[in-house]
Amino acid sequence: MTPQQSYKRLTEILAEIQDLKRAGNVLAWDQFTHMPPQGSAMRGRQLATLGKIAHDMFTSKEVEDLLGAVQAFEKSLDHTSDDACLLANVRRDYEKATKLPSHFVSTLMTHQSQCYDVWVQARAENSFTKVAPYLAKTLELSQQYAQYFKYNHIADPLIATSDEGFTTQTLRGLFGDLKKQLVPLLQEVVAKQKADDSLLKQSFPLAAQEQFSKDLVAAVGYDFTRGRLDTTHHPFMISFAHGDVRITTRYQEHNLSESIFSALHEMGHAFYEMGIAKELDGTLLFDGASSGVHESQSRLWENIVGRSMNFWTFFYPKLVAAFPTQLSGVSLSSFHSAINKVAPSLIRTDACELSYNLHVMIRFELEIQMLEGYLDIKDLPEAWNAAYEKDLGMRPPSDAMGCMQDVHWYGGLIGGQFQGYTLGNIMAAQFYEAALKDLPHLPDDFKQGQFKNLKQWLGSHLHRHGRKFLGLDVLKKATGHTLDIHPYLNYLTGKFLYILE
Ligand code: ZN
Repeated sequence: MTPQQSYKRLTEILAEIQDLKRAGNVLAWDQFTHMPPQGSAMRGRQLATLGKIAHDMFTSKEVEDLLGAVQAFEKSLDHTSDDACLLANVRRDYEKATKLPSHFVSTLMTHQSQCYDVWVQARAENSFTKVAPYLAKTLELSQQYAQYFKYNHIADPLIATSDEGFTTQTLRGLFGDLKKQLVPLLQEVVAKQKADDSLLKQSFPLAAQEQFSKDLVAAVGYDFTRGRLDTTHHPFMISFAHGDVRITTRYQEHNLSESIFSALHEMGHAFYEMGIAKELDGTLLFDGASSGVHESQSRLWENIVGRSMNFWTFFYPKLVAAFPTQLSGVSLSSFHSAINKVAPSLIRTDACELSYNLHVMIRFELEIQMLEGYLDIKDLPEAWNAAYEKDLGMRPPSDAMGCMQDVHWYGGLIGGQFQGYTLGNIMAAQFYEAALKDLPHLPDDFKQGQFKNLKQWLGSHLHRHGRKFLGLDVLKKATGHTLDIHPYLNYLTGKFLYILE
């Protein structure tokens, strides 16, 4: 085989591996949306089988030989071409995957699925002790995962699974700087604001909420011929192909903002995946650059655009038309203050923009303590509650509202699970600032219900690349800057001090 033929054969194998992964995604989407409860045991097994087959194919002798055989071809490529970036990513993934034994991969996947099911029940019953042995096993597997890699800090290999380029040390520095500036701003706004969000807690029929969420994301540009919006416990976006990128949300009768902002959040993730160049479909470049960059897209649409006055200048009359009894006496400015009410709270996904990152930082530090072995799983609820009391001034009344609220540790690993949310907030402000510099009319666009200019800017500056480049490189390409907390702090200060006026 010539080097070109070897490359062609390698891409065929990689495409089959992607097919297996996406088949797994279909099973996972079904598990989290429509599957009856008793389907879960076999579903876990099926997902683990697919994961193991994909892992074995990727770490096979044939892939190793082909990676050796393509070197001459690889050297002839422009390093920013799709082929060169694909090979660079394959080599990175291959190096990681070959460090993990196949039995570890299948043990982990089977365990994750079981732990998730137990967590769903334990959370409903508010029984941490029920899920604690499973979580202890997750911690053990997470520590074991790290041992397969070289590291300075045990959390580093886990952080690298989602935000390559960051370490425990760099993130601690970054979060420390951000916290120093955020806490005084949060305290100032909490002391002065008069926002009342009780108008969002009236009774809003679920069917009308669902219709509004669908109409809203469609009006912003989510293409229902390439996606769906379904209901779930913990909203997510999942991609099967360029032509099938699905989102989910959840509806609560007495919480109107939950469904709207979860839908806008997941729509932001979907715009990213729907915007990846079609040529990359079926390759392992058809993915986001990092969890931070992915989250930047969801937070940009959810918060910077979706909680802005300009956005609701256009959509509020439509919301009032959908809920006339509840909202016809409520002014746009009261609604806008309500959806931007600043107050420390217990649930991360409902947190206001000013306290959100404190939730992330608490989880990040707890992950490190657990991985280092200083915090036992049995002591997690108390450590969680103590951290909330110290940083947010409130103590969760139950573990369901405390350390059992997020799916991440119960369906994944411990370590590297949360930093992407804060990185995403920071990057979202940087991307938006860069877009606004090129397109100063964006705020007027939003007032007119026009979102395609921003969507196109994001598409051509970052979405189309998919996973060709690392997260920090995508940021640099799109904005011309490295990671910087100042655009984010300027955005928050400008917005919340203005709302106070
Ligand atoms: Zn997200």
